[in-house]
Amino acid sequence: MDTVLLSDRESDLIKAAELIKSGEIVGIPTETVYGLGADASNEEAVAKVFQAKGRPADNPLIVHLADFSQAVDYTKSIPELAYKLAERFCPGPLTMVLPKNDRIPMITSGGLDTVGIRVPSHPVMHRIIELSGCPIAAPSANTSGYPSPTSASHVMRDMSGKIAAVVDGGSSEFGVESTVISIEGENTVRILRPGCVTKEMLSEICGEVIIDHAILHELEAGQKAASPGMKYKHYSPRADIIMVEGSLIGFIDYVGENYGDGVYALIFDTDREGFPYRYMTYGKDSSEQAHLLFQRLRELDDIGAEKVYVRAPSPEGVGLAVYNRLIRAAGFEVIRI
Ligand code: AMP
Ligand code: MG
Repeated sequence: MDTVLLSDRESDLIKAAELIKSGEIVGIPTETVYGLGADASNEEAVAKVFQAKGRPADNPLIVHLADFSQAVDYTKSIPELAYKLAERFCPGPLTMVLPKNDRIPMITSGGLDTVGIRVPSHPVMHRIIELSGCPIAAPSANTSGYPSPTSASHVMRDMSGKIAAVVDGGSSEFGVESTVISIEGENTVRILRPGCVTKEMLSEICGEVIIDHAILHELEAGQKAASPGMKYKHYSPRADIIMVEGSLIGFIDYVGENYGDGVYALIFDTDREGFPYRYMTYGKDSSEQAHLLFQRLRELDDIGAEKVYVRAPSPEGVGLAVYNRLIRAAGFEVIRI
């Protein structure tokens, strides 16, 4: 199949919406990363998404709506706390897991009786949802396991020939996927996947915010994942990623001891002066790191990196999302110096 590159002009958004309505799948920009959009209520269209990504069938898709008020159409019940959170964070990078109704087929929810609902703020994604009139299931538009795409060219690289079209809406603002939460009581939420809506931000609305164990730890054999996506190796480029925690001086020594052909460092902007080895930088604070991380992992593959030592970010605020993606990219290989 020829994959058409569409612009963000209204006439092209109409084409994208028509494709989705007719059961095709389309790469779409959002404020987090690019998504692979399909009509969430159309089983055949959703099956194409799993197929194109090579995504395990038990990893559920998030359903995107134009407005949170439409969540009643696809869920059995919505707790009061969800409305409060929606008032503050929708539209935006927050996904709430809610009990689904029959309008969301089991294939979309990966066999679960819940569905992740998100209201994206990106004007292109928002407009395509409106024009299609469909709830849009949209996982990240990468090949399963590879770093998520933050530009239309990343989507083309992974999906060309497998999907109907990609809409170019420029580079993704946040650069990491949405924060996924479940609601556990009148006033408690659990973060299943960290993102740019941070624990601190959620705490302004909720009495208690729990960080799920699987965010920073590898699941043990037989342990059940609250968020099925957390069980898989994820976000990984071809290069071997090793996270290194500790001081810059210790990091430089460690890279030196392990240096050779194909070895690179991924460091903070503030580390670059006099840095003695091949390197790329990924920003100076957590927001920049989130924005740049996946792009850098892809670029490291493009230049033929085989082993990449990464300066570990601080797991605070948005940094928790960056840390969570990196520790998975590294297959939980962390060196502490
Ligand atoms: P992606 O589609 O690539 O952004 O990944 C979606 C993430 O959201 C995965 O880690 C899923 O496990 C998680 N997710 C989606 N729906 C649910 C749900 N109903 N319950 C728990 N986690 C979910
Ligand atoms: Mg993904």
